[in-house]
Amino acid sequence: MTKNILISGASVAGPALAYWLHRYGFTPTVVERAPGLRGGGFAVDFRGDVHLRVLREMGILDEVRRRQTNMGNQVVVDADGGQLAKLPASFMSGDVEIERDELSRLLHERTRDHTEYLFGDSIASMTEDADGVRVCFEHGEPRTFDLVLGADGLHSNVRALAFGPESRFIRFLGYYVAGFEMPNFLGLDHTGLMYNVPGLGVNVGSAGGKTDGGFVFPSEELDYDRRDLDAQKQLVARRCAGAGWEVPRLLEAMWAAPEMYFDSISQVRMPSFQRGRVALVGDAGYGATLGGLGTGTAMVGAYVLAGELAVAHGDHRVAFPRYEERMRGYAEGCQKLAEGAGPFLAPPTRFKIWQRNQMYKALSWRRLAGVFDKMTTKAARNITLPDYRPAPRSAVPRESA
Ligand SMILES: Cc1cc2nc3c(=O)[nH]c(=O)nc-3n(C[C@H](O)[C@H](O)[C@H](O)COP(=O)(O)OP(=O)(O)OC[C@H]3O[C@@H](n4cnc5c(N)ncnc54)[C@H](O)[C@@H]3O)c2cc1C
Repeated sequence: MTKNILISGASVAGPALAYWLHRYGFTPTVVERAPGLRGGGFAVDFRGDVHLRVLREMGILDEVRRRQTNMGNQVVVDADGGQLAKLPASFMSGDVEIERDELSRLLHERTRDHTEYLFGDSIASMTEDADGVRVCFEHGEPRTFDLVLGADGLHSNVRALAFGPESRFIRFLGYYVAGFEMPNFLGLDHTGLMYNVPGLGVNVGSAGGKTDGGFVFPSEELDYDRRDLDAQKQLVARRCAGAGWEVPRLLEAMWAAPEMYFDSISQVRMPSFQRGRVALVGDAGYGATLGGLGTGTAMVGAYVLAGELAVAHGDHRVAFPRYEERMRGYAEGCQKLAEGAGPFLAPPTRFKIWQRNQMYKALSWRRLAGVFDKMTTKAARNITLPDYRPAPRSAVPRESA
């Protein structure tokens, strides 16, 4: 019987998987390359009853609500700070919004007593045979696991080791995004501000005592060291040079920030989410970067993958294909939503900025906002979640709406 499962990545998908696997009687171990839980990044949101059901069944919905940002409206401003358009809260923040690192902390709190976390390490190699996967770590002693699950994000290590180089699976959508924590020098209170010049989107939001700043810009694919924060900040600073409004102060704040999320807007397109004793979950398997409900999809993916393993009594040959079958269409639907995120957040011309703002204005009409909410929520709800139960061998999952 499958028992020992190694998960790579301790952000959202990894700890969520650890939660469910433990609940179904497996023994999860999580390896995370960073020395501890990573901070930084924007707030993430959950939309619609499927997301909320997963949070509820994990017993964390109330806690997520308690820690939610309660972000209000977002205002589009001109170079003098004058209001151009206003966006209703649900547009950016869904049904419930929480800082990504806060969610990660919460999931870690709920799993750390029964999950071995190996921080500051990474899988160096994996060799699979009929009995398991022999894993060599960069630092720790080699160990054998029954299964290895990659929850290590857009640039997944497990995916590279099991499936091949990421250039084969990542579709670059032509934009980059940077996000960092900053002082609230604009005095915002549960509101966000957005500013644009052609080819640059600037965003500041403050809620729950935390203020995030961010930039989105179109670019050729950039060659940079993902571990070199200074080099990434330089790239961002160059792209923002000469932009007005509060951008110079935002750049100062960026330079002072100890951490920054910086990545391309890209999508992961895998011909298969699983190979042998290895499967991918969350961004590693079907990431969408911005606007693709990535966090909710990762939580749903963890629920389905662990549930399928439970009802198949750990037989990955049964569970993995079922997981893939249930998740593929759902994940692809959410990815589709994200395709327009870059041009929407950083329109390339003045005319396109104006057009986008007109659309924002229209969204503040209640009825249209409702139509838009329904569109995004439709993708987030587009899966029938089985009611998994740790059950006797003959059991099959019960379908529920
Ligand atoms: C610090 C951070 C900030 C983010 N900020 C944003 C943001 O501002 N906007 C946005 O759209 N999305 C952001 N994301 C991505 C967002 O969290 C995901 O889209 C979503 O939550 C799905 O999560 P995931 O767990 O699948 O992947 P991720 O959240 O990307 O987590 C992957 C985890 O794997 C770890 N990891 C990577 N390589 C290895 C390795 N070799 N060995 C072990 N562990 C490894 C990473 O350190 C990370 O903890 C951020 C992710 C991180 C880690």
